[in-house]
Amino acid sequence: MANTIIDHVDAVIIGAGIMGLSAAYYLSKQGLKVCIVERESYIGGYTTMRCAGGIRQQFSSRENIMLSMLNREMMHELEKESHCNIQFNPCGYAFAFTEEKSLNEAEEAVKFQREMSVNAQILSSRQTAKMFGNIRVDDVLLTTYCRDDGLLNVSMLLGIIKKELYKQNVKILCDKTVCDIETKNEKINKVILDEGEIETSIVVNAAGPFAKQIGQMTNNSIPIEPSLQQVWVTEPVSWISKDMPVIIFGDEGTGFHWESGGVLSGYSRPYRKEEVSFAEIDLDWEIKHCKKAIERVPDLYDKKLISKWAGFYETTIDDLPIVGPYGPSGMYCIAGFNGHGITHGLACGYLLSKIITGKSIDVDISSLSYFRFHKAVSVKTGYKI
Ligand SMILES: Cc1cc2nc3c(=O)[nH]c(=O)nc-3n(C[C@H](O)[C@H](O)[C@H](O)COP(=O)(O)OP(=O)(O)OC[C@H]3O[C@@H](n4cnc5c(N)ncnc54)[C@H](O)[C@@H]3O)c2cc1C
Repeated sequence: MANTIIDHVDAVIIGAGIMGLSAAYYLSKQGLKVCIVERESYIGGYTTMRCAGGIRQQFSSRENIMLSMLNREMMHELEKESHCNIQFNPCGYAFAFTEEKSLNEAEEAVKFQREMSVNAQILSSRQTAKMFGNIRVDDVLLTTYCRDDGLLNVSMLLGIIKKELYKQNVKILCDKTVCDIETKNEKINKVILDEGEIETSIVVNAAGPFAKQIGQMTNNSIPIEPSLQQVWVTEPVSWISKDMPVIIFGDEGTGFHWESGGVLSGYSRPYRKEEVSFAEIDLDWEIKHCKKAIERVPDLYDKKLISKWAGFYETTIDDLPIVGPYGPSGMYCIAGFNGHGITHGLACGYLLSKIITGKSIDVDISSLSYFRFHKAVSVKTGYKI
């Protein structure tokens, strides 16, 4: 069916993860005819469906905090508009530090967050021990905490956006791969699928960890690298409750929170260049992870893992996403969320829709521009796990 025009739309979105769905939602709300193309057989996104659901405002860069705050607003608006409850669980979110060298930066971050109206605080050792009964925190020197952060029901969020997209007649083509992007006079002209073509003047690269491959279709280098990460969930344990805050051990990279009555844990895996396009569990890393987790939570010693999965963080060198135009006229990117895409998905879809439709934005997002990589810009960030 090559060369068959299967549609003509204002905008084609590549990828049906949180970024593609969010961009499509806000673009269609502004009256654009939108089509999403997804190569998987399901809507929800390769990475998004592997997400752990943590949502936080505790970042140390202005941009990430601003995106988190805007995202909260967008979540409330989506709830109002859809008459559905996103089921955000404000169980709180903590970062615990065990090394002297981290303390100054953690304290500075809390100060900065508070200046930006984030309800962050520093917990005493006693408060930390009380909050995390079965987790070993005796070596923790400082804990930062925000009680407004917590866990999101990702399936619920995706379900609500999907419902809204159907209402707005957004077409979602699953099991279809974008193979090429055709330009005419330096402008977007067509998207070539494995079966058929779609005429359009706007293309949004929302391909998550695969955004670089989409960039190659227009000869643009997108500096987003996939970094394999994995998590597991134990069988139910008696001591954990839904109200226990998420805890991340900032110096060692482990994290724990409630999931389906058990413990979900991750262990930040250092970046290695990935040659594969699908995420397979690194068993050596899993063994290291289990050992570290048992050191922190001795009760997990005899607990079964009931599920585990791997996915890719979509990493950029400055821990900030790319949101905005690149390459030929009509080409846009919304990708590179460094492991916090669910935290910023609605906000960035909203901002991108404003950029595409030429509307003004009342926040400065110039540091999310693709073109920043052409300058020697250094952005202070932290809390990379
Ligand atoms: C283990 C793990 C835990 C995480 N935990 C959290 C968390 O607690 N909190 C948080 O905020 N974030 C978390 N994240 C990060 C978050 O999941 C991602 O930042 C976010 O889901 C990225 O969404 P996306 O839409 O950019 O990418 P994706 O969800 O990957 O969507 C991109 C889609 O593009 C499609 N695609 C690619 N190429 C093509 C093509 N040529 N044609 C058609 N379709 C194509 C892919 O199939 C994919 O479905 C986690 C990630 C992982 C891996």
